[in-house]
Amino acid sequence: MKKEYLTISPRQTKKLGVLAAKEVLRSHPGKKAFVLGLEGDLGGGKTTFLQGFAKGLGVKSRILSPTFIIIRRMNHLYHLDCYRLQGPKDLLGLGFKKIIADPKNIVVVEWADRVKKIMPQDAAWVTFKFINRNKRRIVIRLKDGK
Ligand code: ADP
Ligand code: MG
Repeated sequence: MKKEYLTISPRQTKKLGVLAAKEVLRSHPGKKAFVLGLEGDLGGGKTTFLQGFAKGLGVKSRILSPTFIIIRRMNHLYHLDCYRLQGPKDLLGLGFKKIIADPKNIVVVEWADRVKKIMPQDAAWVTFKFINRNKRRIVIRLKDGK
């Protein structure tokens, strides 16, 4: 499934995140973790979307940006920020394989294009494009059946 949106405020982008989370909750758990890759422009709304996503999952912690922390865990929601990583090897060194093997986990990978090689085949993806000050194009791709 592929859906395209144009949001005109951070609030709308957060709302998209809330709705995406509710969809994930409907389809999860599967046999492995649910993995969601976020990619696209700096300031494109990845962290903003994730704030909504966490809210939709019922996670209370605040999602921060920019972060100097690579992995942040809030119950079974993992926020991995790959902005400062050199590549996939760095993430493997932090136990990525184990994290995505646990069906209870929901794993959101920010700047996932930097570690594309090790993202699971059936990962969902959201791409963010900066159009102007308040406008963002957001494309959500969920694997069929999810
Ligand atoms: P990223 O994590 O992709 O670098 P952030 O979510 O941290 O992006 O930052 C997006 C910035 O753009 C925030 O300051 C937010 O308030 C602003 N913004 C303005 N319009 C939008 C919109 N439509 N969607 C998301 N963020 C927006
Ligand atoms: Mg960010």
